[in-house]
Amino acid sequence: MFSVENNIRGRIIISDEGLNGTVSGLKADCQKYMDFIHVDPRFSSTEFKIESFDKHAFTKIHVRYKPEIVHSALRHLDPNIKTGKHLNPAEFKKLKDQEDVVILDVRSNYEHELGHFKNALTLDIDNFRDFPEKVKGLGHLKGKKVLTYCTGGIKCEKASAFLLEQGFEDVYQLHGGIIKYGMEAGGEDFEGKCYVFDNRIAVEVNSVNPKVISTCHVCGTHSDRMINCANPTCNDHLAICEECGWRMEGACSEACQENPEKRPYNGTGYYQKNTNGYNPYNSIIRKSELAEISK
Ligand SMILES: [Zn+2]
Ligand SMILES: [Zn+2]
Repeated sequence: MFSVENNIRGRIIISDEGLNGTVSGLKADCQKYMDFIHVDPRFSSTEFKIESFDKHAFTKIHVRYKPEIVHSALRHLDPNIKTGKHLNPAEFKKLKDQEDVVILDVRSNYEHELGHFKNALTLDIDNFRDFPEKVKGLGHLKGKKVLTYCTGGIKCEKASAFLLEQGFEDVYQLHGGIIKYGMEAGGEDFEGKCYVFDNRIAVEVNSVNPKVISTCHVCGTHSDRMINCANPTCNDHLAICEECGWRMEGACSEACQENPEKRPYNGTGYYQKNTNGYNPYNSIIRKSELAEISK
């Protein structure tokens, strides 16, 4: 209710492990939201990463309870007890070029294909659930310092805890993730853009030595223009250049272009779910009505 009344939109996950989410709103409203969270003694030390943007980054507000903040198949690990050593952006920047260091990207394909740290080891995974399986193939790195990183530092809590459990001894994690590294260390040596889970899709983090690393899925030229395939049953997140976007009508392949369900392409490659008549109070009202009925 707090979020609705203050026009805060976004995605918030509440679990027994803690709280995580991204929201957007006017500066004053976001400040109220942060104060609201900090008043609760359980969340008094919650850290916020603040970025400015000229419009809402979300269309709705979603608040959900989940057993784990990031679905990982690693529910037995409690990062509050044991996890990789936290490195702040300046420490990470200093350590990452040392010789005995491996930088490990714990994110999925569509994320690291758009951007990753120079020399990072990336994993061929479509979902964080597959991370434990891939770690089995990394045994040869056990004697090295392993530096994990992800978007906002949340996945790393579990990923680095899992590495420790698997016998990796010297494990570190980038505290606050790529986003904070961009804000506090200028994003140096992060190549490409950072994939984010809101309407912005991709954000710049490197103001020191930026580089485009992704290529258009259709023609292979350098492009970091992420779109969703216009075929709703495919809906793949891909880099497709401006020209190919128009030529393929937003589809990632000829098969997708010919799909009868294909959505009209407007040049953005972003497809809003149908939100006509959207009212954030609806689900709240519906639930209280249900409570009435069940009485
Ligand atoms: Zn192209
Ligand atoms: Zn497609």
